Amino acid sequence: MTRPLHSEFDGIAALRQALAQRQVSARELAGSALDAIAGQAGLNAFLHVAPELTLAQADAADQALAGGQAGPLAGVPIGHKDVFVTTGWRTTAASRMLEHYVSPFDATVVERLRAAGAVSLGKLNCDEFAMGSSNENSAYGPTLNPWDPQAVAGGSSGGSAAAVAAGLVLASTGTDTGGSIRQPAALCGVSGIKPTYGTVSRYGMIAYGSSLDQAGPMARSAADLLEILDPMSGFDPRDSTCVESCHGQANQPGRIRAGFNALAETQPDSQPLAGLRIGVPGEFFGVGLAAEVRAALDAALLQFEQLGARRVEVSLPRTELSIPAYYVIATAEASSNLSRFDGVRYGHRAAEYTDIADMTARSRAEGFGAEVQRRILTGTYVLSHGYYDAYYLQAQRIRRLIAQDFQGVLGSQCDLIAGPVAPTVAWNLGEKSGDPVAMYLADIYTLAINLAGLPAMSVPCGFGQGQHARRPVGLQLIGNYFDEARLLHTGHVYQQATDWHLRRPEQH
Ligand code: GLN
Repeated sequence: MTRPLHSEFDGIAALRQALAQRQVSARELAGSALDAIAGQAGLNAFLHVAPELTLAQADAADQALAGGQAGPLAGVPIGHKDVFVTTGWRTTAASRMLEHYVSPFDATVVERLRAAGAVSLGKLNCDEFAMGSSNENSAYGPTLNPWDPQAVAGGSSGGSAAAVAAGLVLASTGTDTGGSIRQPAALCGVSGIKPTYGTVSRYGMIAYGSSLDQAGPMARSAADLLEILDPMSGFDPRDSTCVESCHGQANQPGRIRAGFNALAETQPDSQPLAGLRIGVPGEFFGVGLAAEVRAALDAALLQFEQLGARRVEVSLPRTELSIPAYYVIATAEASSNLSRFDGVRYGHRAAEYTDIADMTARSRAEGFGAEVQRRILTGTYVLSHGYYDAYYLQAQRIRRLIAQDFQGVLGSQCDLIAGPVAPTVAWNLGEKSGDPVAMYLADIYTLAINLAGLPAMSVPCGFGQGQHARRPVGLQLIGNYFDEARLLHTGHVYQQATDWHLRRPEQH
């Protein structure tokens, strides 16, 4: 199997240097990545590839490089989760509902990365409308885990994680409503970050749970995450929930990079994490956590102490309540967001119907998969007269308490919180797909972060044991609002001392 040219480089910074010195061209890089994607079609990581569009972007990057006006990502091969709308490539949200949909505009995230010079290889597989934890809810079949084709890639951004793990792109975009960047990153052995709610524009990102959804990058290392997150972040007047300022600093490209550089400068080489207090919540290490995951995390926590950090035991007592609260709020918002798919304004329309109500009902029954229908029904139910107070309002109260729990810990007791991303390594395809509740329970360590709107990152920290020896484990780092730079710096220091993020699956 031929590996794409970009995999010969250590990361985005090294590739940028080679491109600037014209040792390699954007077109060569794009061509070899397109070949690799075609050669690994069995992974089902990409849903839409259009070589002519990719090569046109690569040619534009080569021209900019030759003219000395190249953006910071000129020629860097990336891919977008198929919930970011794109002109050119179709945008399906992995649903039959949008099978033939082509957007008249680009999402802000897509536009910004394009303006920075990144070359898109196409659109990546995911769970339908980003609902799921395994990528098995895609109408176009699951993405396989590059480490083990029997295993799920995680979800919902499974294609984004698998494409990076298999080396098909250097970085990808994902979205995280309740863990969809961090969990597939963990299960595929790559790095991923969900920034603070409001940091990255949601304009052109197909809405799932609007008060929870946030976009972020996935890549091999924390250093590469910084390269992508910094230019994709920033205020956007087209998204009313995108913030103008972060603790008095303008929300714009350059903010996260400056924070990262400041942290890197002030740390001594021998104890680069000296003074950092890492909170370890007891509730994240309870009975539900697999022993093999706990073993990898324990080793990582020791490593952080060796790098100078201090471990502090903390408590997040409402962790378990995050599951019912999230699945009430997310489904309520989804039921509203997905009402636009009515057979008239967007997407699929049934071929046969009697009247307009019948047309809408049939179009939705045919266009949406089973899990999406389940979420719409749940969401409509919890919002209905008579149940609103008991479910929706109660969930909102719990949401506030969960956010308060984090604020009681972050700052006063610790600077960051560390824990697992998922209770187990990647499970087998089909293992949980018949049991939605088992699938929801696997989200226990990621949901609270979205309910609180905090930033969090996943970094590879080891593997399972025995039969799972080739299934990766991820460590989650959770920061206070707008503390993306500290997360990335801590992850970077850890990655300088370890090589988990450099491990590659055998066949890729
Ligand atoms: N697994 C969660 C869900 O199904 C989270 C998905 C996401 O973050 N998009 O809702």
